[in-house]
Amino acid sequence: MSANPLLSIEGLTASVDEKTILHNVNLNVAAGETHVLMGPNGAGKSTLGHLVMGDPVYTVNDGRIVFDGQDITGLTTDKRSRAGLFLSFQAPVEIPGVPLSSFLRASIAGRPGLEMKGKEFRRRVKELAAELNMDTAYLNRELGVGFSGGEKKKVEMLQLLLLQPKLAILDETDSGLDVDALSTVSHGMDAYRKSCDGSMLIITHNTRILEHLDVDRVHVMVKGHIVREDDASLIPWIDKNGFETFEREAAEQRAQAEAAAAEQQA
Ligand code: ADP
Ligand code: MG
Repeated sequence: MSANPLLSIEGLTASVDEKTILHNVNLNVAAGETHVLMGPNGAGKSTLGHLVMGDPVYTVNDGRIVFDGQDITGLTTDKRSRAGLFLSFQAPVEIPGVPLSSFLRASIAGRPGLEMKGKEFRRRVKELAAELNMDTAYLNRELGVGFSGGEKKKVEMLQLLLLQPKLAILDETDSGLDVDALSTVSHGMDAYRKSCDGSMLIITHNTRILEHLDVDRVHVMVKGHIVREDDASLIPWIDKNGFETFEREAAEQRAQAEAAAAEQQA
């Protein structure tokens, strides 16, 4: 781990509607690295992604998020995006009436280094669509409307390759995909990494997508706590054993903490 990580989540405690979801979360990603965040359903993985991106639904109660040397904890989502952060949603949006190509054009507008003339933009998007095995007819269709799960994920990969963010947080980009779409997404991740030395935080509870990736670090989240951090060797271990061990350990730690607190009270 380098001294100055690209993303540094420091002691983050966060809530929604008075309910604490994340507890003192620490997580660092260095430039150019690929990290994986794993954990059972409801652990708080998506919440963490949304918090890094600045979703106003969640309240930061403690801690901070530093990105590329800047404390971004209080920044709006568009500022974070311009700073080089990207989040793919677990459930991508549909925007009736907006053609995909217009959406893509708007998403790069005003971004330093990404200004392009219309002709160049169309050439670039076609190039990327071909790379992702995507039918260019989709570019003229309304964003997300009637797209299959796999097609939506391809659109996200297209956006990722077009925007070239410094860090991409990919939330369950692999869920519900058939083998072909999976290989496209996997190819998209690889292309992103190679084209701009991009960093990734991949959120998943499925180890399939990770098979072709060089993973630097794995973080395991259970009930809003990071309960383990290790190198890629943790992936096959989780594949074999699931998350039960971590859940049991976390429950034991909670019971111990509660017992200690009760003893202090007595
Ligand atoms: P994961 O992505 O690991 O499956 P989530 O981050 O989606 O988990 O959810 C973690 C917990 O926080 C769950 O109990 C979920 O119900 C709750 N939660 C997340 N977002 C909201 C929200 N906007 N409103 C209420 N509860 C939420
Ligand atoms: Mg989730």
